[in-house]
Amino acid sequence: MTERELLIKGLEQIGLNIYPQTVDNFLKFSDMLLEKNKVVNLTAITEPIEVISRHFLDCAMIAPDIISEEKVIDIGTGAGFPGLPLAILCTDTEFVLIDALRKRIDFLNQVIAQLGLKNVTAIHARAEELKSRQSFSAAVSRAVADLSVLSELTLPLVKVDGKFIAMKAQDCQNEVERATKAIQILGGGKPIIKTYTVVETDIVRAKVEIKKIKDTPLKYPRRFSKISAAPLGGK
Ligand code: SAM
Repeated sequence: MTERELLIKGLEQIGLNIYPQTVDNFLKFSDMLLEKNKVVNLTAITEPIEVISRHFLDCAMIAPDIISEEKVIDIGTGAGFPGLPLAILCTDTEFVLIDALRKRIDFLNQVIAQLGLKNVTAIHARAEELKSRQSFSAAVSRAVADLSVLSELTLPLVKVDGKFIAMKAQDCQNEVERATKAIQILGGGKPIIKTYTVVETDIVRAKVEIKKIKDTPLKYPRRFSKISAAPLGGK
């Protein structure tokens, strides 16, 4: 199966609307990612077919959860995951992708310009220093930090009644249990774990959905050194 065929088959199985432009955008993004990866460290994945399955289809699995959202932030987006595939798929949703590493954001700005995407902005920033408190209807994140640390980076940015979806490994049960107290302090509800198999693969992953049910106390987030040295709710 070619990369194009795998991508179309996978996206169809998720039940997403796909247009020729959608597929072209994904393939252009993949080319740019693999090319730039030769000089800047962006991803451990170097096979084009794995970019489709392990990056694009994996990220597309949460598109149905955010397609009706108004404004979504991706914390620690790295080379654009999951935010950029979601922005390609959910064109009526506005996305902000942030990362602490400038080189990754510079790359994303090149991709956004090349693809002509109008619904996404990439910003070089640390999540805990962002001033946009409680202004996103949803937040997403993959492979950034332990959930108790990640929740302090993320939940202060989400509006009450909004949600946070953390993409995690299949066996995240203990991590989620350890983070439950922190989530509650930060204004989140009970985390719900849903496991799923990425379409067209045998990769099993989990998404942890946390609803924001009340305001985050103003003293959070703390400085990163504090967040990581003393995660809320204990280590
Ligand atoms: N989310 C991407 C993915 O799934 O491929 C990238 C994962 S990479 C392992 C983690 C990224 O999180 C890095 O690019 C790092 O710079 C970023 N990061 C870590 N802490 C951060 C913070 N406090 N604010 C913004 N970005 C952060």
